[in-house]
Amino acid sequence: MLDQKKTVISGIRATGKLHLGNYLGVMRNFANLSLDETKRCYFFVANLHTITTNIDPQSIRHDLREIVLDYISVGVDPERAVIFAQSSVPETSELMWILNCFTTVAELERMPHFKEKRGKLEEKEIVNSGLLTYPILMAADILGPNADLVPVGEDQHPHVELTRSLAKRFNNIFGKTFVIPDILSSEVVRVPGLDGTAKMGKSDKNTIDLSDSPDIVSQKVFKSVTDIRRKRRSDPGDPTCCNIYTMHTIMSNGDEIRYVHDNCRSAGIGCIDCKEILIQNINNILFPIQQKRFELTRQGYEFVDEILHEGGIVARNKIAPKVEEVKEKIGVPSY
Ligand code: ATP
Ligand code: MG
Repeated sequence: MLDQKKTVISGIRATGKLHLGNYLGVMRNFANLSLDETKRCYFFVANLHTITTNIDPQSIRHDLREIVLDYISVGVDPERAVIFAQSSVPETSELMWILNCFTTVAELERMPHFKEKRGKLEEKEIVNSGLLTYPILMAADILGPNADLVPVGEDQHPHVELTRSLAKRFNNIFGKTFVIPDILSSEVVRVPGLDGTAKMGKSDKNTIDLSDSPDIVSQKVFKSVTDIRRKRRSDPGDPTCCNIYTMHTIMSNGDEIRYVHDNCRSAGIGCIDCKEILIQNINNILFPIQQKRFELTRQGYEFVDEILHEGGIVARNKIAPKVEEVKEKIGVPSY
C-alpha cells in the first residue's frame, strides 16, 4: 500500500546550543508534528551545513549529539520521527551537485541569508563557496526525501522558495520528478537577539539557550539591550524599538503584553520591571524541557548514537532511490 502520509522535513545546524529562537520558531512544532498520524517526520542535524561557518571536528560531533537530545527533550518522539545526521546520507550531496547545475549564481547571491552571513565575516576572512551554495544543499535535503512540508523559521523561507523554483525547473525539463514542497509556518516567526539585533542565532552569542538555568536567564536578560533612547527610568520608552518587548509579544500573555506596552510608553514601569516579567515567562517555558533533558542525559550518549544509526539507515533508504531516479533522468546513472 502506498504511504499516504505527508512527509515533513527540517534540520538544525550543529553550531552550538539550541536557543529560544530555535524552539519557538520551529522546534515547538516538531513535537506535535511527530505525533500527528497523518505525517511522517524527518528531523536531521545539518552537520554538513555547519562547515560553511565552523570547522572544528570535536565541536561538530558534540553539538550534533546535543541537538538530538534537544529534539527529544522538546517532545519529538524518536519512535515515530526519523532523527538522523545529514552526513549519513551521501546521496543528498550527490543530488546537491546536480541541482547546482540548475541554479544561477545570481539566485544565490541575492539570498538574504548569504548576504547576512557574509556581512558578519571579518574583512580578512574568505567567503567560502559553501556559504553561497548553502541553499542548494538545503534544496537537496528537502527534495531528496520528497518532502511535502518544511517547518522552518522565517530566515529560511527564501531557501524553501528557491527549492520550489528548482523543483519546478527540473520537473519542466524532465517530467514530474520532485514534489513541490510547502513551508509549514508557525505563528512565531523570528525571535530577536539579546544584543538588539533582529535574530537570535547560535553563532551570534546573543541567545537564551534551552539549557540556561534561571540565574543565567536573569543575568542575560538584565544585560540585554532595550530601547537605547530610554536613558533614565523616568523617560518614556518606545516598545516598537525594543527587543525585550518583541519577546514579550511572543512569550507573555495578552494582559502582560498590554501592561508592559502601556507602562513603558508612560514610564509607569522601568526596563527592570519589564524584564522581570519576561524572565519568569522564559523560565516557565524552559523548565519542562530541562527536566526531560536531565532524565535523558543520565542515559548517556549511547542511545543517541543508536537513534542516529537507525535514523541514518531509514533516511538513506528513503532518499537514495529518488536520487537514482534523478540521475537516470539526466543520463548519469550509476553503472
Ligand atoms: P546559526 O546562527 O549557526 O545559523 P541558528 O540559530 O540560526 O544557527 P539554524 O540551525 O540555522 O539555527 O536554524 C535551525 C532552525 O531554527 C531553522 O528553521 C531556523 O529558521 C530556525 N531559527 C533559527 N533562529 C531563529 C530565531 N531567532 N527565531 C525563529 N526561528 C529561528
Ligand atoms: Mg541559521
